[in-house]
Amino acid sequence: MSVTLDRPAPKAVTEAGCEARPILRERGQREVFCGLTGIVWMHRKIQDAFFLVVGSRTCAHLLQSAAGVMIFAEPRFATAILDERDLAGLADAQEELDRNVTRLLERRPDIKLLFLVGSCPSEVIKLDLNRAAQRLDRRFNGVRVLNYSGSGIETTFTQGEDACLAALVPELAQSDAAQLLVVGALADVVEDQFIRLFAAMGIERVAFLPARRAGGMPVVGPNTQFLLAQPFLAETGRLLEARGAKHLAAPFPLGAEGTTLWLRAAAQAFGVSESRFSEVTAAGEARARQALAAPRARLAGKSVFFFPDSQLEVPMARFLTRECGMEAIEIGTPYLHRQHLAAEMPLLPESALISEGQDVEKQLDRCHAARPDLVVCGLGLANPLEAQGITTKWSIELVFTPVQGYDQAADLAGLFARPFARRDVLRV
Ligand code: SF4
Repeated sequence: MSVTLDRPAPKAVTEAGCEARPILRERGQREVFCGLTGIVWMHRKIQDAFFLVVGSRTCAHLLQSAAGVMIFAEPRFATAILDERDLAGLADAQEELDRNVTRLLERRPDIKLLFLVGSCPSEVIKLDLNRAAQRLDRRFNGVRVLNYSGSGIETTFTQGEDACLAALVPELAQSDAAQLLVVGALADVVEDQFIRLFAAMGIERVAFLPARRAGGMPVVGPNTQFLLAQPFLAETGRLLEARGAKHLAAPFPLGAEGTTLWLRAAAQAFGVSESRFSEVTAAGEARARQALAAPRARLAGKSVFFFPDSQLEVPMARFLTRECGMEAIEIGTPYLHRQHLAAEMPLLPESALISEGQDVEKQLDRCHAARPDLVVCGLGLANPLEAQGITTKWSIELVFTPVQGYDQAADLAGLFARPFARRDVLRV
């Protein structure tokens, strides 16, 4: 569900970021999805994992509606609904959870990794899911049981993936092997394209977190260098660095330019010559630029305003302004990770206001004053803005659709061009 949260609201402040440009920081009422949403794409990625949400009926409804019309013969997520209980009833709740997990694992021997996912209700917060996961992990051979929180109090929607991957990092075996690790869930088709490109460059040892199967999770150690495939993996990145891995600073692989710069960071770290790098990437980059021509024709010259939602806003704005000819008015993001976005920030247009956090009423005022051609926002804001005649794009689609890499660059631009096409059709 889309939740409205009231946070302590100190005055908005404007600060100079490390890249010496002013950033508007706001803390007030905000409109976001919770981290449970990430289950919708994470369960597709790790093919023998199961996500058991310990939550309320609201959580079950969110998952059902976020998963949309997907019907599974054997679903890989579910909600264990915890009704209101007092503290004395919590021992029973633990037993009930154990019974549910036992039933599930007996019926589904294909499950090799079980995530207990925490949520907001106070009964769930009182329940110690970490201890429950440890207890259940000891009880079942051949199934790893882990836990993380997808609660709307602690997470916005892409932070669910961060919390899930962060739960995996302590589980990864230690290794001194030199390797490239790509971190962040990518569609299999995109992952395969990157594997081919790295192989053609001569980077032999490449691993992905998460792996497609629980038994194939990568190793990590002091000779691991990692590229983030997503900009919302703050905790995962921190834990990997604590295990000795080194982060490779790069823009994210969105658009032709972003993909080339992301690949180049790996090529430089692994000693690939510039000529070999160009040989491997030139065709893909040219193909992407050519395919971008059609959506660019619809987007060029139009203005865009980002409300904070997915944490993808900064690289998306970079792509839309530099490769699609759009003008960014405001680039709002829930969190601005200075280190992970360091290579993106200098590529943003000087004229755009960058804001971190949200005070939704003030931001709506700025949006109305600017009258942008396109607003990128969450579902909660999209409908009212559409009703006011403002064209919108739901940011949630940006995480559900394969958009990284050369061959997806035009699809990515197409996601932003489609709302204009829809509005044109409605006008006719
Ligand atoms: Fe709602 Fe919290 Fe459940 Fe998310 S975790 S659906 S915000 S109750």
